[in-house]
Amino acid sequence: MVFKSIGVILSDPIETRTVGNRGTIVHNGRMSRTLLLLFAHPDDETFLTGGTACRYSSEGVRVVLATATLGESGKPGIPPVCTPEELPAVRERELRTAVELLGIAQVHLLGYRDRELASAPPELIREQLVGLVRACRPQVVVSFDPNGGNLHPDHVAISRFAIDAVTAAADTRWFPSSGRAHAVDRLVWVPGKRPWLLARDGDLKTTPGVDFAVDVRAWQDRKAAALRAHATQHQSAERNFFAQPDCDRLLGVEVFRQAFGPRLSRRPLDDLFGGLGPAGL
Ligand SMILES: [Zn+2]
Repeated sequence: MVFKSIGVILSDPIETRTVGNRGTIVHNGRMSRTLLLLFAHPDDETFLTGGTACRYSSEGVRVVLATATLGESGKPGIPPVCTPEELPAVRERELRTAVELLGIAQVHLLGYRDRELASAPPELIREQLVGLVRACRPQVVVSFDPNGGNLHPDHVAISRFAIDAVTAAADTRWFPSSGRAHAVDRLVWVPGKRPWLLARDGDLKTTPGVDFAVDVRAWQDRKAAALRAHATQHQSAERNFFAQPDCDRLLGVEVFRQAFGPRLSRRPLDDLFGGLGPAGL
């Protein structure tokens, strides 16, 4: 079975297309930390983790993103930024611009069709993601929660595939030719629908599901620029952030829920790597 990514045909369905590679694994003989983001569409990374990506890349953490589809079934904006036929190529360009702004070192385009991710063969995407996890060896992985945040079927699907692959990557019996086994220390989810509203609606210290609240105020201008880079999605960015009277507050914190990982000393922590040891080999 061959999956087509719009604009490119992956002759080998296990292959991922890598856009950019500014990441390095070894600094001064020590492994650097790596954060892996697993999402469904271009723009998920910016809406949900844009400030977090900026923060960690500025701290020397290698941030890697895998995006499963090009979001080619989405809207091209009102007025339209491009034709529906142009949308996949335009969204890929938007993604490249956004990740550059966010300091993301690598983007892997997994090549699945928008709105059809749920029907991807589990063994195929498992092998693809296991290979990616073993290659980039992250300490922390971020994806959607099991409800996909807003129940979007592609979001639910990538959440399912993420936990499947993260656990399989640690088991040497899976795909022995796909690299050395790697155990992720912590998997976190983006909690619920429009998580940025949690910062408005209540006390994050007492809100269940908020295990990490990352202060990204220092990077919110870059996050806003990355949101604007997804020009075809301008309505969503406007509605959720820029048209809101407390836009600064909504952009200034990003929240996460621990799916698995070491016991937390308190909730919420402000660091996704909090309580973890140094990066291993
Ligand atoms: Zn999405």
